[in-house]
Amino acid sequence: MTITNQQLFERSRQYIPGGVNSPVRAFKSVGGTPIFFQRGQGACFWDVEGKSYIDYVGSWGPLILGHAHPDVVRAVQDAASRGTSFGAPTAAELEIAELLCRLLPSLELVRLVSSGTEAGMSAIRLARGYTGRNRIIKFEGCYHGHDDALLVKAGSGALTFGHPSSAGVPAETAGNTLVLNYNDVAGVEATFSKLGSEIAAVIVEPVAGNMNLIKATPQFLETLRTLCTKHSSLLILDEVMTGFRVGLECAQGLYGIRPDLTILGKVIGGGLPMAAFGGRRDVMECLAPLGPVYQAGTLSGNPVAVAAGLETLRQVQTPGFFDKLSMMTRKLTDGLTSVAIKNGVVFSAQAVGGMFGIYFRKTPPVSFTEIMESDRDAFNRFFHTMLKEGIYFAPSAFEAGFVSAAHGDVEIDKTLEAADRVFSQKA
Ligand code: PLP
Repeated sequence: MTITNQQLFERSRQYIPGGVNSPVRAFKSVGGTPIFFQRGQGACFWDVEGKSYIDYVGSWGPLILGHAHPDVVRAVQDAASRGTSFGAPTAAELEIAELLCRLLPSLELVRLVSSGTEAGMSAIRLARGYTGRNRIIKFEGCYHGHDDALLVKAGSGALTFGHPSSAGVPAETAGNTLVLNYNDVAGVEATFSKLGSEIAAVIVEPVAGNMNLIKATPQFLETLRTLCTKHSSLLILDEVMTGFRVGLECAQGLYGIRPDLTILGKVIGGGLPMAAFGGRRDVMECLAPLGPVYQAGTLSGNPVAVAAGLETLRQVQTPGFFDKLSMMTRKLTDGLTSVAIKNGVVFSAQAVGGMFGIYFRKTPPVSFTEIMESDRDAFNRFFHTMLKEGIYFAPSAFEAGFVSAAHGDVEIDKTLEAADRVFSQKA
């Protein structure tokens, strides 16, 4: 007899807080039992009960080539067979650092770490060390990992569970984080005119993907760039999600904004734990061993993760890769919007490269307030009925979705047919 998701969840809850190793996996906001996966291939994965799903989560972004891409698997196997960790430099680390600096002109130096959280935390410490200032600006609904300084009015799981600011973060730490409204140019101008000389850095998701998907307006990002330059603060673009996901030049290329520092993760690790932060040479040279800002990691630049990242980055450079990915993602969002309209459901959707947002409101949101006004109950019903149809969207109304290069017409058409059935029941 096969084991069920329910049985595994009950056992997990005995040993793992809430039965999960990252909160949104618990399905708490949508209700029901989380699904335990045992295998993935291409655009699909299978749970322990043998049911298959078309996957629009892609491990929350990294799997841009789909599950178990044979070239990535081979690269990982080859690297592992030569040794899983050395705690010393390797040529492959140099190769990926060179590649990242070549693909992203704003990176003059880059350091590898193991998670987006680590990258964000290190970039903030570096910005404070470089400027000698303590205050940072972030935006409500943006998530930059679970570092204390950044877990203030955050998005993603923190927002999903209604605790955007975590317990356990000292008031003194949170007090140095100024939280402003996303896309609010006047708010940023007012804060800089009052406190500009105290601000070490502004950190922002150039396309926010942790309060569902909200695009920054060009004017917003341009204002951040101008004010940071004027006040000698650093602009940190969090491209953990958007990096090599919205296009080969990342969001900074799409918007034409050159940040002082960038944080990367997800796609650059090809599904293994790897992330990075990098940027201006004079700033990065403040890092140990060159400078006074300490930062380190036992598994930083891990050879197996680097191998997965290199192979993934090799593939995304194939000519036309992002054109096809964007086209498929657009086919999904346009298609979902048409079937919703046909069935009289209040709905909108939009895509940027291989990431997308679906909203149970008339138009795509441009602010945190607007996404909070969307119909969460309608999303939850949609999520569960689509799940029954074998379509796996993120289990939260506040997460972006992801399409991979393995998603083709077959998968998108199946999804749209399922959505038509679901919307016709007024999901
Ligand atoms: N920054 C952004 C924009 C993210 O979406 C995430 C994770 O979802 C992070 C940072 C943190 O990355 P990690 O989960 O690898 O720590």
